[in-house]
Amino acid sequence: MSSIAIVPGTFDPITNGHVDIIKRANRIFDEVIVAVAVNSGKSPMFDFKERIELTRDVVNSESELVGVEVEGVKGLLVDFAKSRGAKVIVRGLRAVSDFEYELQMAFMNRRLNSDVEMIYMMPYIKYSFLSSSIVKDVFINGGDINQFVSNIVINRMKNKFFNKGVAVK
Ligand code: ADP
Repeated sequence: MSSIAIVPGTFDPITNGHVDIIKRANRIFDEVIVAVAVNSGKSPMFDFKERIELTRDVVNSESELVGVEVEGVKGLLVDFAKSRGAKVIVRGLRAVSDFEYELQMAFMNRRLNSDVEMIYMMPYIKYSFLSSSIVKDVFINGGDINQFVSNIVINRMKNKFFNKGVAVK
């Protein structure tokens, strides 16, 4: 039986840190499903559909990634995992600051479905301090985000901002 892992997130937008975790999961599991969450709690730069498209475009541009699908997810992640026959949810752990939130989520998911296991992976140290929010902040203030996200993301961010008439360098 093939092993399937879910890599969930908001991906607003997908960064090289996310890609690092997807690659690590891809080396271990036969199939990886990148699950883009609706995440009503955050007010994203890109809407649900845009985040799915952008994440899919970036994943498809990475030749190293084989057997990786991107899907949008509404509802409980553990239910999504079950519906896809996945027993594992992979999350990235950057700094200690991620730990408390991840611990809460892991215990809640276990209570909701004890058949699904959470696995945590650390990215390369160079991505340890990278987040979608910091990328957006730097971009909005005219900084260079080239080392942190794919060109596909940069172009989409530029489009979004120039179309809105927001001044960006
Ligand atoms: P969420 O809102 O679910 O936290 P994110 O898109 O911010 O969604 O993050 C999704 C997952 O990717 C989380 O497990 C997060 O810790 C991980 N992640 C985000 N940025 C990085 C990074 N730079 N390196 C490693 N993991 C990361």
